[in-house]
Amino acid sequence: MSQFANVSEAGGDEIPSFNGSEKAKASDFANYFCSYSQIFHQKQMLSDTIRMAAYHSAIVGNPNCFKDKVVMDVGTGSGILAVWCALAGARKVYAIEYTDMAKNAEQVMKANGVDHIVTVVQGAVEDIKLPDGVEGNVDVIVSEWMGYFLLRESMLDSLIRARDKYLKPKEGLMFPSHCDMFWAPVHDKEDRFQIQQEYHGSMGDWEEFVESTKQTYGVDMKCLEGNYEKEQNEYYLLSSKWSELPSEALLAEPVCVKSFDMATCTIEDSKGILPGCPAPFQFECESDTTLEVSGFAGWFTSDFRSRTDSDGKDAAPKVDNPVVLTTAPGPYTHWGQQVFYFKSPIMLLSGEKTEIEGNIEMMRSKDNARLYNVKVTHESRRLNKTSGVIMNRNPKQDTVYQMP
Ligand code: SAH
Repeated sequence: MSQFANVSEAGGDEIPSFNGSEKAKASDFANYFCSYSQIFHQKQMLSDTIRMAAYHSAIVGNPNCFKDKVVMDVGTGSGILAVWCALAGARKVYAIEYTDMAKNAEQVMKANGVDHIVTVVQGAVEDIKLPDGVEGNVDVIVSEWMGYFLLRESMLDSLIRARDKYLKPKEGLMFPSHCDMFWAPVHDKEDRFQIQQEYHGSMGDWEEFVESTKQTYGVDMKCLEGNYEKEQNEYYLLSSKWSELPSEALLAEPVCVKSFDMATCTIEDSKGILPGCPAPFQFECESDTTLEVSGFAGWFTSDFRSRTDSDGKDAAPKVDNPVVLTTAPGPYTHWGQQVFYFKSPIMLLSGEKTEIEGNIEMMRSKDNARLYNVKVTHESRRLNKTSGVIMNRNPKQDTVYQMP
């Protein structure tokens, strides 16, 4: 997924591909869409074998959902999902792509002999015009819209708008159909330590920098110390980090902090885990050796299965061969996990258990509606495993992290 600067003209709640000013759209293009117009970036996604295997089995393994159907691929990129839909027997596929990658997708359709079935349409799915009769008549929407910790990039808004306009309300299928966000305490001492080192390293030469700037150029920069500290603190210690954790890093059973039924979720759901409705968690960790809890990790799963909502569960075709795409600690996916490191770790000692509880909120960054901040509230205590006597308590803490 792309790396983009933490500023844009977007602001607030709305992503610019819907209702944005021309300036906001240009900024969104520069920050967000730009990387998707490079084959290099599409190739990275195409090389994520877990991602590819999940979509491939979901589409090709469920021909009853595609045979003679009208399909829309929201954000077709290189066009691969649209090709699979055509091969699975779709009658018509509309492959929508905002960036110039659309031109490459057209070549891919021709080269694979499916250009008579797939029509590539370049534009934002919110803006495009399709032939009369397509609105409300699409049988399946496929899309690979997920970002880090599911929501980052906010492409879900575009997908929901496409669903509400084009999908058959009762018989239509969303691929993926259900998505869940997970949260768990993890052990990752090396990376936590390294980040702390980097932070101290970057603060360490400040005094010397102030002194030499004064000596050499006659200007005193000491007044910026507080702001520099704040900036470096946010950058190193209050930002989540992309990580590829092994499954052994997990220290407790993960909890689901938010679930999305793709048939019914709303633009409001896409805004995150809102204050006033935080997602609670409670973990019990034990270890035979002394170990630290380095922080929490967040990731998601996407399911391709039958509709479960009351409107669709009897009306829509069944997904006979369900598939789950997981980005949990374990085998590599390009999504990895987002890790939210503690400033000081929570300890696990042998003969004890450590209980951690709290909640998370997740809301869009004020500066850029495609980015999110995560507020973690947690407290912990260590207990003797046999007697239950409390050995130590860490009081409640609030930390707000940005997901860069
Ligand atoms: N479907 C491809 C690419 C997925 S990446 C694959 O699975 O390999 C998501 C793609 O959606 C990007 O190419 C991006 O440019 C496109 N996209 C994001 N928002 C969009 C929107 N609102 N309208 C059209 N395309 C969009």
